[in-house]
Amino acid sequence: MKKNDSNIKKAIKYLNNNECIAIPTETVYGLAGNAYSDKAVSRIYKLKKRPRGNPLITHYYNINNLKKDCEFDNTFIKLYKKFCPGPITFVLKLKKKSRVSKIITNNSNSVAVRFPSHPLTRKLLKKINYPLAAPSANISTSISPVSRQDVVDEFGPKLKFVLDGGYSKIGLESTIINLIGKPHILRLGGINSKLIYKLINPLENKNKKKIKIKVPGTSKLHYSPGIPVRLNAKKNYQNEAYILIKKRKKLDKNYFYISKTNNLKEAAKNLYKTLRIIKKNGYKKIAIEKIPNINIGEAINDRILRASKK
Ligand code: AMP
Ligand code: MG
Repeated sequence: MKKNDSNIKKAIKYLNNNECIAIPTETVYGLAGNAYSDKAVSRIYKLKKRPRGNPLITHYYNINNLKKDCEFDNTFIKLYKKFCPGPITFVLKLKKKSRVSKIITNNSNSVAVRFPSHPLTRKLLKKINYPLAAPSANISTSISPVSRQDVVDEFGPKLKFVLDGGYSKIGLESTIINLIGKPHILRLGGINSKLIYKLINPLENKNKKKIKIKVPGTSKLHYSPGIPVRLNAKKNYQNEAYILIKKRKKLDKNYFYISKTNNLKEAAKNLYKTLRIIKKNGYKKIAIEKIPNINIGEAINDRILRASKK
């Protein structure tokens, strides 16, 4: 416990100096910097090699801290009460007097915000008086990191500090919902879209128009392990790493289980970790067994589909 406290102190020191550090969240690790500082935010883009046009998610401790920067309505409050802190990101309208760096939002009047639930990062957010901009802590287009070691593998000594919070519990990015105009999901993720839509009052939103927003994280090539990925594979070919979700009778050194019992939550948690292991082992190709397209399986399928694009 003491170690965690001294690491949080260290993290705050870096952040106060406009440095970026990696932080643990329940979805994936984030590359974090002071969201009110152009200098800190520029460093995130540079380190990640992220195109400037791709906006960042800003992380807050709670709704009170958000009030200064964003406008929100009843739909937001309902979703916030049900799912936050947790793996859901909201696109909201910025207030005119908001202090969020314009670099984060690519000069637009909307911002994506999230309230992560990882206890260590919550402790950190509570102690600072600014929100944290934090995209996933990986080089642009590659696989998101789910442990301290993954982050170190991505950035090496270029990144000065990683707050170690163990393995990410969910292992896939947050669900993003646009609440400007008629609410709609922009990216599938940690919270199933059906649960979200169930809570949204259709009458309240009846006359609102769907406002189109471009989400670069949903572009075709993303979450890429850098080698070809074949989906819905019934078997694997020689030397092809085979990702499985159900236990097979046969033994094969090329089998990699993300679950042995068809457990989708477990599969989500193990997916990115397994893709990294396969790459480290020098495989040149990956086959993936069919993943049921229900619950978090929808988000898994979304990611592996994009990982399979050339
Ligand atoms: P990541 O970099 O992996 O954390 O992903 C962040 C995702 O949030 C990307 O897909 C961004 O395009 C999306 N995003 C961030 N800010 C906004 C915004 N203001 N409007 C729409 N999408 C956003
Ligand atoms: Mg990312």
